[in-house]
Amino acid sequence: MTKPADSVVLKTTCCIAGGGPAGMMLGYMLARSGVKVIVLEKHADFLRDFRGDTVHPSTMEALYELGLLEDFLKRPHDEVTELSGRIGETLVKVADFSHLPTHAKFIAFTPQWEFLDFLSQAGQRFPEFQVMMSAEAVDLTQTNGRITGVKVAAKDGPLTIEADVVIAADGRHSTLRDKAGMAVTDLGAPIDVLWMRLPRKRGDPGEALGNIGTGYVFVMIPRGDYFQCGFVVRKGGYDDLRKRPLKDLRERIAKIVPFMADRVETLKRWDDIKLLTVTIDRLERWWRPGFLCIGDAAHAMSPVGGVGINLAVADAVAAANALASPLARGILRDANLADVQYRRQRAVRLMQSLQLAIQDRVISAALDSAAPIDPPAIVRLLNGFAPLRRLPARVIGLGFRMEHVRTKDIHAR
Ligand SMILES: Cc1cc2nc3c(=O)[nH]c(=O)nc-3n(C[C@H](O)[C@H](O)[C@H](O)COP(=O)(O)OP(=O)(O)OC[C@H]3O[C@@H](n4cnc5c(N)ncnc54)[C@H](O)[C@@H]3O)c2cc1C
Repeated sequence: MTKPADSVVLKTTCCIAGGGPAGMMLGYMLARSGVKVIVLEKHADFLRDFRGDTVHPSTMEALYELGLLEDFLKRPHDEVTELSGRIGETLVKVADFSHLPTHAKFIAFTPQWEFLDFLSQAGQRFPEFQVMMSAEAVDLTQTNGRITGVKVAAKDGPLTIEADVVIAADGRHSTLRDKAGMAVTDLGAPIDVLWMRLPRKRGDPGEALGNIGTGYVFVMIPRGDYFQCGFVVRKGGYDDLRKRPLKDLRERIAKIVPFMADRVETLKRWDDIKLLTVTIDRLERWWRPGFLCIGDAAHAMSPVGGVGINLAVADAVAAANALASPLARGILRDANLADVQYRRQRAVRLMQSLQLAIQDRVISAALDSAAPIDPPAIVRLLNGFAPLRRLPARVIGLGFRMEHVRTKDIHAR
């Protein structure tokens, strides 16, 4: 008799959907504490561009506490201790990380696949850690209102994974939070980002990450021999741009960053430019019995400030702290899941409010402006008084609530 197609059933303690920063960090930390984990990642590899590039001091402090920082910093990265930007014609310094009370007093700019691959490799030493690539979580299984597992479309066919708890870390378009019927509040993001690469040469002026001026916001992130660039447009603006020849966009970029004039020709076709939609939203409730959302699945972050990865990691650290022991002992209660939301939601709300304010008052204002733009008073103050630049560095680098590792490595001798 042939078996039904979905008859393969695996059992684990924690099944995490999504091998992004939140999912990989939580998977690593739970396995380190002796909890059996399966992390599902729908793609075959971590090699995608759109994930963001920043690993902040708070995340590196967690890596330090896990004994991983030294090895992580052997991966390719650029260390940035000060954030600067060009507003109109003026170069301004806005944040100084060199005084933070952390072991890494800088932002590490590194392609996110390096960070994810690093965690995936580091987790291999734990027998409890399993990452399944090309495995998409497509649905949940439930019994009497409690979520009991995940249905997976894996490369070798469908399977069901039964687990004591299912974690949705599957990002801002989370399938599992929809399947769980979680109510999402959209906070509105009127912008999108066109993501592209431009060559980087020795001797390029390196200091301005953000360029804000009359009608434009253009971000340049150094990555080895190229810049990962983000050209911010109003929602729907991409379609308008595409009605015009690509050369118009090249000319605009060359005007914003004149030293790029001889390199914009490397943008040969519209396929060289990816549209990344920006979303800011959050769940009112992050959990249901047997189920918890973390990272962008619980609260999608905008790219403003480059803080989304670090909030996702902070959620993961808080979740591991709250869940590792009850899961290892088989006594998980709903209150443990509620604790994670309780601990994290205020810091998330504050950061989203800040992102919305910057989005409306700085980014949208610049995109809509026809008059020359000067740095606002607060930015001039930061630029003029170096000690003040420690404050934005704390908010960006540590967030509103830093999470410390409170779990044990049961494999340590
Ligand atoms: C244009 C743009 C630029 C950004 N730049 C930065 C930046 O520089 N720095 C920063 O800190 N933040 C940045 N962000 C925000 C940041 O990307 C997110 O906040 C962060 O990645 C959230 O991490 P996460 O692990 O929760 O989700 P994600 O990083 O989205 O990871 C989710 C993972 O789940 C996988 N997945 C999805 N669905 C399924 C499924 N059904 N089954 C299995 N796997 C699934 C995905 O493939 C992905 O690997 C940016 C956002 C945008 C839109």
